[in-house]
Amino acid sequence: MASRDKLMKKLAAAREDINSRGGGGVDRFKIGEDETKKFRVLPVGVEDDELFFKETGTHRVNNKPNKCPKVTYDEDCPICEEVEELFKSSEAEDKEYAKKLRARSKWAIWVIDRTDSKLVPRLWEAPKSVIDPLIRDFMDEEYDDILDFESGRDYQVTRSGKGLDTTYDVSPRPKSSPMLPDGDVDECQEMVDSIPDWEEVIKCRSYDELADILDGSGGGDDDGGEDNGGNDSSNIRDQVKNRLRQRNRGK
Ligand SMILES: [Zn+2]
Repeated sequence: MASRDKLMKKLAAAREDINSRGGGGVDRFKIGEDETKKFRVLPVGVEDDELFFKETGTHRVNNKPNKCPKVTYDEDCPICEEVEELFKSSEAEDKEYAKKLRARSKWAIWVIDRTDSKLVPRLWEAPKSVIDPLIRDFMDEEYDDILDFESGRDYQVTRSGKGLDTTYDVSPRPKSSPMLPDGDVDECQEMVDSIPDWEEVIKCRSYDELADILDGSGGGDDDGGEDNGGNDSSNIRDQVKNRLRQRNRGK
């Protein structure tokens, strides 16, 4: 029995480790309820005049997240098509449902978690309230370059509230600081170069798979366990089923 307990503990630890990395096997930035953390945004793609963030869309179906290929990669999405149809309906109920089903945007960035001793790039699919001040400061000449390897800025973020009322308060640290503690620019560059392309870490299901999910027969993505905002759809499964039943009856 004792060895079984040990095994169970090991399995639990392994599971926690796997879940903490989320989908795609990448390290993820996590922030808990009422937690304050410091982070540094990595200048991914900036050298090639690319944006350092990537907008992603997520539909919640059956209370599970599903990446939207339309918002994320400008590809066809059956869920968006359904949402569009529902918005055309004259029934208020359909419009309400469409609002719940439509894709919610987040903005993926790569960060270093300053509260963790592990110096690794972490993927963070951040809400608008996080990305907005980052872009504002990036564009503000008074801040110099917040992403600079040597003279950029760390940020502080505090997460408060729950579910749809979750808010993130983001502010730059008063002083600039190097991205890595020893300030070695080559090492910074190496770290940024090691970051995989967005397509490798943010994956969408195929059109058919998403259509099955909309029909209630498929599962959702692993979003790394982070669940904040946009989670008003606990009964969406029933709504989808009712909707489909109504439609099928009408045929
Ligand atoms: Zn979509």
